[in-house]
Amino acid sequence: MAMSIALAIHGGAGVLPPAELTTDLKQQYEAGLRDALRAGFEVLLHDGSAVSAVERAVQALEDHPLFNAGRGAVFNHMGQHELDASIMDGRTLRAGAVCAVSRIKNPVCLARLVMERSEHVLLCGEGAEQFAAEQGMEWTDPSYFFTQRRYDQFCRARQQQTMKLDDGKVIPMGTVGAVACDRNGNVAAATSTGGITNKRYGRVGDSPLIGAGTYANNATCAVSCTGHGEFFIRYVVAYDVHCLMAYRGLSLQEAARLVVMDKLLPAGGEGGLIAADNQGRLSLIFNGTGMYRAWRTSEGTEEVAIY
Ligand code: ASP
Repeated sequence: MAMSIALAIHGGAGVLPPAELTTDLKQQYEAGLRDALRAGFEVLLHDGSAVSAVERAVQALEDHPLFNAGRGAVFNHMGQHELDASIMDGRTLRAGAVCAVSRIKNPVCLARLVMERSEHVLLCGEGAEQFAAEQGMEWTDPSYFFTQRRYDQFCRARQQQTMKLDDGKVIPMGTVGAVACDRNGNVAAATSTGGITNKRYGRVGDSPLIGAGTYANNATCAVSCTGHGEFFIRYVVAYDVHCLMAYRGLSLQEAARLVVMDKLLPAGGEGGLIAADNQGRLSLIFNGTGMYRAWRTSEGTEEVAIY
């Protein structure tokens, strides 16, 4: 019997406060999420793999200028873009990732090439870009990633010498990610980001780190995180969800809740995650104001939500 298929995506936990999200902007966010969800779900409907579905969905979000990944990514302290991305296949436990790349249009696609065509898991900066060129992937001019909105945000942050807002929260982020379960019960996860506005040159967050921002294992689930990366690295968040299911026998919902609400929140680690288990069940959870997100399962319809 064919298994349930499921896909969840996120566009980051750093949402705008409800008062600042105009109707027009809200519609643009929702349309971006819906398009990415459809693109990924289409892959699953045609019996594509979970890995291909998450890559496709994340690629669509990277191409959308509103989200902090690919085009529209945030600026680092030097006024440049340094992009991070990763992907993991829960069937084989193979993974690929890139960090601090600045000339790659779709870092998630390069992460997949690292997974499938290199002997490594994580390639960084110019080395990753050199590998991309060898694989026939074209470089993009860094100006491609520019958006006025992110630049204005960066100028404000740099002026105030901070990555934080007045209330102490990190400036709104919009990392993107996807998790999927395909017809064969295989799960996969992918995450892509520009990081945090005004981050130090060379800073790498959780998104490209397997176990922290991304993890997938057919035995349990696939996870993609968003939030204040330093916390997600220290709490090894994505792998922790897997461990709670594998070693403590928790359900997907219980494991995700325990990590995001009982561990991260008291520690001050704002953010959230999306997860899919090997039965096609989904969990989308966050401990802040909201998380741009969308999801669909075999039985359900398209769902999009922000707060
Ligand atoms: N986790 C990302 C990072 O710290 C940021 C985000 O999720 O928005 O790089």
